[in-house]
Amino acid sequence: MNSVGISLTTTIYALPGVREMQAQKLEILGVRNVGQLLTHLPHRHEWVRAQAGIAELEPGVISSAVGEITATKISGFGRKARFQAVLHDGDGRLDLVFFNQSFLAKKIPVGTRLRVQGKPTRFGPGLQMANPQFTIIPFDDESEVEDDAYRPVYPATEGLTSEQIWGIVRSVLEPAIGLLEDHLSDAYRAEHALPGLGEAYRMMHAPENEDEVKAARRRLAYDELLMLQLGVHMKRAHLRRTLTAPALPRTSEINERIASRMPFALTAAQQRVVDEISRDVALTTPTNRLVQGDVGSGKTAVALDAMLLAIANEHQAALMAPTELLAEQHFLSITEMLAGSKVRVELLTGSMPAADRAGVVGRIASGDIDLVIGTHALISDAVAFRSLALVVIDEQHRFGVEQRAKLRVKGGREEETETPHVIVMTATPIPRTIGLTIFGDLDISTIDELPPGRSPVVTKKVTREQRKTVYRWVREKLGQGDQAFVVVPAIEPGSRGEGKVTDLRSLKKELEGGELHDVHVAALHGRLKRDTREHVMHRFRAGKIDALIATTVIEVGVDVPNATMMIIEDADRFGLAQLHQLRGRVGRGEKPGVCVLIGNPTTEDGMARLNAMVETTSGFVLAERDLEIRGAGDVFGTRQSGAPPFRVADPLRDTELLQMARRDAAAWIAESPTLDRAEDALARRRLLKAHGKWLGLGDVG
Ligand code: ADP
Ligand code: MG
Repeated sequence: MNSVGISLTTTIYALPGVREMQAQKLEILGVRNVGQLLTHLPHRHEWVRAQAGIAELEPGVISSAVGEITATKISGFGRKARFQAVLHDGDGRLDLVFFNQSFLAKKIPVGTRLRVQGKPTRFGPGLQMANPQFTIIPFDDESEVEDDAYRPVYPATEGLTSEQIWGIVRSVLEPAIGLLEDHLSDAYRAEHALPGLGEAYRMMHAPENEDEVKAARRRLAYDELLMLQLGVHMKRAHLRRTLTAPALPRTSEINERIASRMPFALTAAQQRVVDEISRDVALTTPTNRLVQGDVGSGKTAVALDAMLLAIANEHQAALMAPTELLAEQHFLSITEMLAGSKVRVELLTGSMPAADRAGVVGRIASGDIDLVIGTHALISDAVAFRSLALVVIDEQHRFGVEQRAKLRVKGGREEETETPHVIVMTATPIPRTIGLTIFGDLDISTIDELPPGRSPVVTKKVTREQRKTVYRWVREKLGQGDQAFVVVPAIEPGSRGEGKVTDLRSLKKELEGGELHDVHVAALHGRLKRDTREHVMHRFRAGKIDALIATTVIEVGVDVPNATMMIIEDADRFGLAQLHQLRGRVGRGEKPGVCVLIGNPTTEDGMARLNAMVETTSGFVLAERDLEIRGAGDVFGTRQSGAPPFRVADPLRDTELLQMARRDAAAWIAESPTLDRAEDALARRRLLKAHGKWLGLGDVG
């Protein structure tokens, strides 16, 4: 307790002048004590005009005024009754109304001098303020002139206005910020031009002007970003200290052997990423690298290169895909590329017959398999490797931090501290800032170039009414030897209770009886058996099927260079990342691709997604657009990482702060890997509180 008698843990109920009802309402907002009240930040601020003559008040502008009550009235009954009063100054009249507060009649009788603050609205010929903030002015008080003030606006709740919250905050602000300890030293703050923590909260709640809010925001946002980065770097330093991975050096002989397996020369971008990976894995420090590259940029070749490097060094490698179909695709194309080599490749998925599965698991354990390709079945507990040196996770956006963590313990060899190198690949490019935040524990490589000879896919959007024309055009192109994908949002009619959508069954029937009656049409979806699926894909790749009607199982990885048309039914039902992935299935060969989005969007977001698709083919631009449409919260929420979203920081806008926090965190952890110096104690405590759990920092230090 300080001189004014509060501490940060003093409950709101215990504050003088706070009514019990208000304390209850604050509790609903998650604010139970003084410390929490400080961190209940205004979501914006607004200028409140200096006290004006009533005649000068403008509707809609928050203002204050002083006058004398000349008339009062209660209307309605009981608790619902409202109290009305008329406030006059020398030359104007303002009507006041207080809903559900008839008790004020006793407090504010005719003749009271009152200062009110609120937003006047038009009321008959004059103006009215509803539920204004007010203070009764003693008759000896002459302090009438107030300056313009920049006031906080708080997230309010029913029965507790922003003004009332401000009143409570104001009553404790000065003593409370005096109690705050700063986890950043004076020197550190001076170097970074950051205000102190207490000062930042003061400027957030009671700023003099916009600049102070900016400075406060900057400090608080920096803190959030710094804490996350400290956590991530601490974790990483811990892993590096305690775990080792097999060194995978690259000799010129190995280099030649790998190159001879590639059916093409790598692009400059691919080569750069291969070099980055090679540098990483040559060391016993476990690699943790994100390879991002737009759809079709050739990530598989880069992955294969790294896996062959592991195998050449007499270890095992694993490639993990998010769906069975994609695992099967990778398996097919990789076995093809490795035909005639000594590398032993096998597939492991959850839907394999138990006996086959057991066989593969056995050969993984005995080391009779060099390269295993599979789904998350690969990280099931039954699978133990003989000597796993490298894991590639394809399409990272489907795998969370936890699953990656699980891989860390799959190294297989006796010593628990042996772990494989991990490379994650994503074709849903993550804007750099987001990447740094979510995947702060990863190094990032970018394949920013497409293989030669690609022409960008032309994208068109059409309405449902134009479908017949689209399919007539499809038929014509099929006649010239091209192939088409047709994607639908549902397998069966009515299988998605959200209005009418085109389903696979009905569409297939319709097309087979109509525009596509004389070509080969087949269906592909996740409910088919693996054999059937493989058979269909095989026939499609071989050109025996002209049009493939599918669900989004073909979203990732399907690679059929002769397919030039991607028709998407009810395209507005799909997410932007999905649409981009789907479009990436065409235009993979010499022939240019066309993507047709069919749909009559019923929402603004749906419309925005289709427009974005037509406007750009860049996955990076789309990823940013997607964030704008969906909001960053969605990405940061549980979906990606389980990391708590930020309250102040906005990683999309605060790029510079983020870079700064990242650099600072790296330097800090380099100096004090577990933050166990006395001067780090407060930062450490706050860090563990914010991120200890989801980052699993409990065992660190
Ligand atoms: P993604 O990055 O989407 O996974 P893929 O690895 O599937 O891309 O590659 C897309 C296509 O480009 C494949 O058909 C692949 O064989 C081809 N490809 C990859 N790299 C090259 C290259 N350097 N030159 C020519 N074709 C390439
Ligand atoms: Mg791929």
